[in-house]
Amino acid sequence: MDLQEYRGVSIYAQQVDGQLSRISLELLGKARELADELETDVTAVLIGSNVKNLVQPLAQYGADKVIIIDNPILKDYRTEPYAHALASMIKTYHPEIMLVGATAIGRDLGPCVSARVATGLTADCTKLEIGDFPINPVAGKEQKHHQLLMTRPAFGGNTIATIACPNHRPQMATVRPGVMQAMKPIREAKAVVEEYDPVFVCNHKYVEILDIVKSVAETVDIMDAKILISGGRGVGGSDNFKILEELAAAIQGEVSCSRAVVDAGWKPKELQVGQTGKTVRPNVYFAIGISGAIQHVAGMEDSDIIIAINKDENAPIFDVADYGIVGDYKKIVPELTKQILNL
Ligand code: FAD
Repeated sequence: MDLQEYRGVSIYAQQVDGQLSRISLELLGKARELADELETDVTAVLIGSNVKNLVQPLAQYGADKVIIIDNPILKDYRTEPYAHALASMIKTYHPEIMLVGATAIGRDLGPCVSARVATGLTADCTKLEIGDFPINPVAGKEQKHHQLLMTRPAFGGNTIATIACPNHRPQMATVRPGVMQAMKPIREAKAVVEEYDPVFVCNHKYVEILDIVKSVAETVDIMDAKILISGGRGVGGSDNFKILEELAAAIQGEVSCSRAVVDAGWKPKELQVGQTGKTVRPNVYFAIGISGAIQHVAGMEDSDIIIAINKDENAPIFDVADYGIVGDYKKIVPELTKQILNL
């Protein structure tokens, strides 16, 4: 099939237990931008069992069309039937661009699907834009039509690679959660709905789910937190984080940290903010004893308000901070907590 015949921007609308995952709305936001530029439509591909009630939120967040693949086989995520469903949809509808969230599910699903439809996949993208790719590597000449330029950190974050897929379609990417922004919902939005049956020839029982044991999180995921109290190497040790935890408790915040803290073993990796950690966008971000290295800032610079506490007045964190306090956090933070508790 000719590459020009592929049309539209599709996203995999991830849902778990009948709830849309936030990444689905983020992907829709980005897909809307790309589709407007390409003057084409956004399609959300909804896979699951009894998930038709999710059509409306998908329309509100930017989908022009929703393709539903609804089957009891698809009740819980399993690689085989989900990959079959999404790959069959691609072979039938021929989207030009296919976006999947780089979640645990998407990281599993995306590569399986791209292999089945014989196209490339750029994993864990942090930027997507439409642009001209200078050279077609196969034909060796300039690529005339617009390409999806997919940017991602490579080699452990030491370089940033921009990748295009000039000779295959769809152009497929998994996208890092928290990086793209969902659009504001449009209350009355309507989407065209189409039910698609990819024909499940066998029961897809290579993997059978016997039981699902949910982990009970004691704290809020830092990507969902409205207030983050983030500590760096300057905090000086695992025990000293108690000072930050007291502030967090006083203002209903959550504690996060820099990579130096994770590398030192003071906090687990799931609390790391930055290029090789999580991308966060809270209302308020406290950077305490954090120098403001570019790899850290990449994960928190979109926070609404950034408050930096650092004893070095020349620390680069002050370049991105809205409010800065120069001094020893061991004096400043307990005083701040005391003042807040006295309010
Ligand atoms: P430091 O740079 O050591 O800064 C400590 C700060 O604390 C200093 O500014 C100091 O003035 C201040 N301080 C010391 N004592 C006090 C005190 N008593 N009161 C107040 N302030 C005090 N980093 C990340 O955070 N996230 C990432 O995802 C990430 N990914 C990376 C990927 C790659 C490929 C590479 C090469 C690096 C990455 N890094 C990442 C590491 C990054 O470059 C920095 O080394 C790291 O962010 C530094 O952490 P820090 O600011 O806590 O420590």
